[in-house]
Amino acid sequence: MAEYDTLIRDGMIIDGTRMPRFRGDVGIKNGRIARIGRIRPSEATRVVDASGMIVAPGFVDLHTHYDAQLFWDPYCSISSWHGVTSIVIGNCGFGFAPVHPDGRERAMLTMTRVEAIPYASMKTGMPWDWTTFPEFLDSIERHPKALNILPYVPVSPLLTWVMGLDEAKSRPPTEKEEREICRLLDEAMDAGACGWSAQRLDPNGPACVQRDFDGTPMVSDLMSDDTCLALARVLERRNEGFIQMTLASGNPEHDMRHFERLAEVSGRPVLFNVVQPRDSLPLVHRGNISWLESCRKRGLRVYGQAVTVDTGMAFTFENWNLFDECAAWAEATTGTVEQRKDKLSDPARREALRAPMPRVITDEFDLIFITTIERAELKEYEGLTLRELSERTGKHPVDAMLDVAVADDLRTEFYAPGPNQNMGFLKEMLDYPWLIPGVSDGGAHTKFFTGGQYPTDMLERMVREREMLSLEEAHWRLSALPALCAGFRDRGFLREGAPADVVVYDLEKLHVRPMEIVHDLPGGEWRRVRKAEGFRSIMVNGQVTIENDRESGAHPGRLLRHGAA
Ligand SMILES: [Zn+2]
Repeated sequence: MAEYDTLIRDGMIIDGTRMPRFRGDVGIKNGRIARIGRIRPSEATRVVDASGMIVAPGFVDLHTHYDAQLFWDPYCSISSWHGVTSIVIGNCGFGFAPVHPDGRERAMLTMTRVEAIPYASMKTGMPWDWTTFPEFLDSIERHPKALNILPYVPVSPLLTWVMGLDEAKSRPPTEKEEREICRLLDEAMDAGACGWSAQRLDPNGPACVQRDFDGTPMVSDLMSDDTCLALARVLERRNEGFIQMTLASGNPEHDMRHFERLAEVSGRPVLFNVVQPRDSLPLVHRGNISWLESCRKRGLRVYGQAVTVDTGMAFTFENWNLFDECAAWAEATTGTVEQRKDKLSDPARREALRAPMPRVITDEFDLIFITTIERAELKEYEGLTLRELSERTGKHPVDAMLDVAVADDLRTEFYAPGPNQNMGFLKEMLDYPWLIPGVSDGGAHTKFFTGGQYPTDMLERMVREREMLSLEEAHWRLSALPALCAGFRDRGFLREGAPADVVVYDLEKLHVRPMEIVHDLPGGEWRRVRKAEGFRSIMVNGQVTIENDRESGAHPGRLLRHGAA
């Protein structure tokens, strides 16, 4: 009988604690790391040759929206393809529990817009074998998983359950309702939830970029500070859990104080979403960082989640919905393709649309370009930037873009780089050691955007190509830091006794492949993905889930109730 089930042999071990790398072996037994050091091959049933490779802890992604996808894709791709072995779902206050049976349709419709998850996929792919939050967790527990899942209680369904959707959107809860909301949070935490989440964007302001499917603000957008503080007190009393919040009330001073207050009242970690450098507004990320630093100095557990990937988007106007911060764009990009076509071609609407491009993408017309056009007569414009298209047609870039799109029945695909192209600003962010990388938004907006590649991207682009940070530092941030912020009991490090969530990869070969379209969603739907290259082996709880960049088909992931399996 061999001492170890698996031996990862002769790799360069980076254990996630920021200790210097060393060459050695990792022995795995019963899903856990049994030994790190020197192990003879004869002691193991199976040997993975890791010579020349990096051996490091699996990545921990705290910001995903796989709440629906996990039911039809146990791999929660693209995250698992890029070495992520644990995810947190239910971010931003959005999710599917608790939801009354007669609210299911509405819950799915909401998610089609706010996180752009295709309705047909949810309709076909979700079992809906739950009503309450604890039943939702039981359902996740029953379903196969290739990675570990930690669940937030999202506030929107919680408030909707207690108050009804219309009431939850029109007034704060009564005292009695608030007690019931808190009781349900308690019940969900008893069942193993990791905390609660909310996205609160000023319903009347330019920051309200993610709306409900009927164009109204989300329940969480209308939530009051007091309700948040009541929920924070639940965590304080339990001395467990953490909070994720995106807050843009239009008053940054208020927002910072509210985060501080949540941290003071709860005594728990509070994840500030998001720190993102913007090429045109460097003061924003600098301001965020200096405020987070002042929180740290005062012992307030407010942690920033940072966007490190290029947030470039590929889109057609058939379904594009991320210009909602601008009322004219929000209005023009709702409805059927025919309705959108009518609105986008309407000369009376164009002036408002010609205003500066909404902030979700770059505002540089030199950087936005046409990737594909369907109609043969228009093919000559493929590959042009909006600036070039404007010069070619003698129109304003926005008119030129929309005229081509409308003439092409909205099938024309555009690509716009993210507003975060400045490498100096990225470096400034990486120089602050306490930011958690990876606001992947995994599972959301998949017709336009992929963010799940952020670990591969960080290692390839920031560590290997630009040497902006060391491998030891990168691995600490990709695994240990988020695991510690999120209350994982024993993950995020390579350590004897810990669950064996491990990545083995070739740093020289590590690569994020270009965006591509795959038709693999239920209900005949499609999405964009970016695949990984260079992962020799990814293990979750000691079992291989990815071998040579391909899914093994194994489902060793666990629901982590209370942060542990
Ligand atoms: Zn989100």
